[in-house]
Amino acid sequence: MPDVTETFDVVILGGGPAGAATALSLREHNPALSLAIIESSAYERPRIGETLPPNAEPLLRQLGIWESFLQEEHAAAYGTCSTWGSAELLGNDFFYQPYNRGWHLDRRRFDALLVREAEKRGVALRTNAVLQSSERHGSDLWRLTINSAGQEMLLQASFVVDATGRRALFATQRGVRKIVLDHLLGVFLFFGSAARANDQTLVEAWAEGWWYSALLPDACLVAACMTDGDIVKKLRLKSAANWFERVQETLYTKQRLTAAVPLGEPSVHAAHTQRLERVTGAGWLAAGDAASVFDPLSSQGITKALRSGLWASYAICDHFKGTRAGLEKYETLIAREFKGYLATRAEYYGQERRWHGSPFWQRRHEAKDLFT
Ligand SMILES: Cc1cc2nc3c(=O)[nH]c(=O)nc-3n(C[C@H](O)[C@H](O)[C@H](O)COP(=O)(O)OP(=O)(O)OC[C@H]3O[C@@H](n4cnc5c(N)ncnc54)[C@H](O)[C@@H]3O)c2cc1C
Repeated sequence: MPDVTETFDVVILGGGPAGAATALSLREHNPALSLAIIESSAYERPRIGETLPPNAEPLLRQLGIWESFLQEEHAAAYGTCSTWGSAELLGNDFFYQPYNRGWHLDRRRFDALLVREAEKRGVALRTNAVLQSSERHGSDLWRLTINSAGQEMLLQASFVVDATGRRALFATQRGVRKIVLDHLLGVFLFFGSAARANDQTLVEAWAEGWWYSALLPDACLVAACMTDGDIVKKLRLKSAANWFERVQETLYTKQRLTAAVPLGEPSVHAAHTQRLERVTGAGWLAAGDAASVFDPLSSQGITKALRSGLWASYAICDHFKGTRAGLEKYETLIAREFKGYLATRAEYYGQERRWHGSPFWQRRHEAKDLFT
């Protein structure tokens, strides 16, 4: 085992929106704490999840990064459209909402900005650094083995934030169970700049699930078939030919892709709803997708991650004042938020009744009582 290389008050595992928001808010509310973010990537790979709804604005303001975010000039989004419950295409214009514009994010750039802002405020950032293992050392310290560019280092921390995304690596190393509520997958295809100019994010319900398409930077486009794992297998959707055959069954998504040139083969991403059976423990908590994962239909993953980072920072401040009250409140807030989400999710899936014999829709309708 390597020697301890560095010691921090709080180590945040994962530099996505949840980890970065926790760091930014902690810096604001308890600047005396020493903080580190451990991030496995260098923000070089594309990241999934790029529609930022208007209700992100107050969160970005609260985190003190609104001006820096605006300077990044992500493409504005003024609404979304969907066919859900009927074949009619309906628009959801952000103009009538309290914050009237959302964004088509360059996710890589967005996530990198958040950690850069945290670093500017004095947070130690370690990229290309992957959590390997973790153990309790004595009654109030954690020892974390990190692999950084092939080298092992040992970090010590009083408090650990698991913000590693849906894998919830640190929490599962503690033996905390993930409760998985469905088997939704997204089969994604990226398209080059020949994509058509309609700039709105489109959601289109379909017999075996739903389709999603959205603009990306440089006039590129992403389209995804969202359905359950067994249906991906049955329809062999990992093959581009089968994916294209199925998109012909849609009304609007197929039109949007008519002139678009696919870049490579489809890629499959987990998109199931889940939550940890508990999101706090002695000297740790989970934030963002590590704590709970919403269906991408909600488009709320990033704002939820930012919000949980804020809540997490309040709980951690309480922890360093010697009280567990903050962690207990955090546990309650995450549970309440998830319950509210499940009710909304059941309501949305309940609105689509066109395909009675379809396993995808039957599962969502039958599971209603479980989720409310
Ligand atoms: C198909 C799909 C479409 C989506 N579309 C949208 C959308 O349009 N809008 C929206 O708001 N949300 C969307 N989401 C959800 C959104 O992407 C997530 O909710 C959001 O990224 C969660 O942020 P996070 O910080 O909790 O986790 P993540 O963004 O997953 O960040 C986790 C971080 O931890 C790092 N990490 C992982 N393991 C380790 C390790 N061992 N050591 C160190 N670092 C590690 C990762 O590199 C990553 O940077 C979508 C999700 C899916 C699956």
